[in-house]
Amino acid sequence: MRVLLVEDDEPVAQSLRRGLLRYGFEVEWVSTGAAALAHESPYDVVLLDLGLPDTDGLDVCKALRARGDVPIIVISARSDETDRVVGLELGADDYVSKPFGVREVIARIRAVMRRAQPPRSEASPVGPDRYGPRLTVDRKAARVHLDGEEVALAPKEYDLLAFLTEEPGALMSREQIMEAVWDANWFGPTKTLDVHVAALRRKLAGAITIEAVRGVGFRLIVNEAGAGSPGQNSSGQGAGSTS
Ligand code: CA
Repeated sequence: MRVLLVEDDEPVAQSLRRGLLRYGFEVEWVSTGAAALAHESPYDVVLLDLGLPDTDGLDVCKALRARGDVPIIVISARSDETDRVVGLELGADDYVSKPFGVREVIARIRAVMRRAQPPRSEASPVGPDRYGPRLTVDRKAARVHLDGEEVALAPKEYDLLAFLTEEPGALMSREQIMEAVWDANWFGPTKTLDVHVAALRRKLAGAITIEAVRGVGFRLIVNEAGAGSPGQNSSGQGAGSTS
């Protein structure tokens, strides 16, 4: 998916760009409204900062909308309700306020893309998310494939994998994971988390690595092609003794 990122703040743009690239998005970055409007190559979604050096982002939003249906997500430091409303009235599809996390932006992108896509037959899915050469996660169908074969996951194993793959490489605390995957009000022991992590490690051995960070939580690493995963073969045999 191609993202046109219109943002004049270089650190913000770079960190967002890195985050999006990690998720497999292609990112074209421009830093002015004029450059956004002059941008020729096609893109699937626009992330549009409102505070631009040359033009008001709201005017850019309006101009882009006048040209077509490409989803527009407005990003801005302005937390002003008026801007939000005006942005949406001018045709923006959604809005995120700075500071925001990459995860939040990606969730918004996915949401607007889902809404923007015409209804499809089930035979032609949007396509699963790919993590490295071996693993795909189809979030619509809640299905996981390893080397093209479906992996049988328990519902919570799937939820855990879906959560950890939202931001590969990011360290997630046990609390964050428990809250997202199990229950927002979980106060009990988190041993069940370890059990599920162990199951994912076993079932997806070689394709991903789930690192434990003592006293904090876990970090999912996608094993890219050629990245050594010593002793692993695709059968997953003998890989059960992690942790
Ligand atoms: Ca700005």
